Amino acid sequence: MSLFTTTTIDCSDCQAVFDFQAAGSVNADRRPELRDAILDSSFQTVVCPSCGASTRLEPLFNYLDVASALWLAAYPPGAMGNLVAIETEVKALFDESYGTNATPAAQGVGDILNARLTFGWPATREKVLLRQNDLDDVSIEMLKLDLLRRLPEAPLRPGVELRVVDVNQEMLSFVWTVADTEEILQEFEASRQLLQEIEANAEGWAAVRTDLTAGMFVDIQKLYLDLGQDAA
Ligand SMILES: [Zn+2]
Repeated sequence: MSLFTTTTIDCSDCQAVFDFQAAGSVNADRRPELRDAILDSSFQTVVCPSCGASTRLEPLFNYLDVASALWLAAYPPGAMGNLVAIETEVKALFDESYGTNATPAAQGVGDILNARLTFGWPATREKVLLRQNDLDDVSIEMLKLDLLRRLPEAPLRPGVELRVVDVNQEMLSFVWTVADTEEILQEFEASRQLLQEIEANAEGWAAVRTDLTAGMFVDIQKLYLDLGQDAA
């Protein structure tokens, strides 16, 4: 079931006050148009009925897509600093819905789901896009680490992320993007052959895979950002 909550928006341009349906839970199997809206980056875009100004709500919802084997919890980018606490909370929610504390039938569904935690729209869209294209997001994160070694001028800093934005038979399209504004700083393409080389070398990447899949936040940022692990 998809759940929305009525929230009050104050337009920052014209000060109009109006209601908007904020997503709390998205079921993409039953509402595929919501998956499409995430992929075309229109989801949760608020257009003021008075002046037409457009803004986007920060993500804060759960997403279920059994057909694509994906469950995810999406949070605002600013919440990444509370990773440890949020990951604990999200794991408990997943366990209750599809994991160890769920009914046997729900656990059967949970067994096939890739459970993920994302911060911000670029990361959320990327996870949905990769599952749609049947790509392993862990391998994609490993490819990013590999690319970072090859890119002399990577604009790597907190709040700036490397994301896959398009996929075709031969290439993967990447952008460096600002997580909260979705501004694109740089774009480039990489051959899918690089991904195949990584996947062919499972042994060489095993330790990195273990680190990336410890918890639901499958993202290279946890390998180099200080995300409050010490506070746990
Ligand atoms: Zn307005």
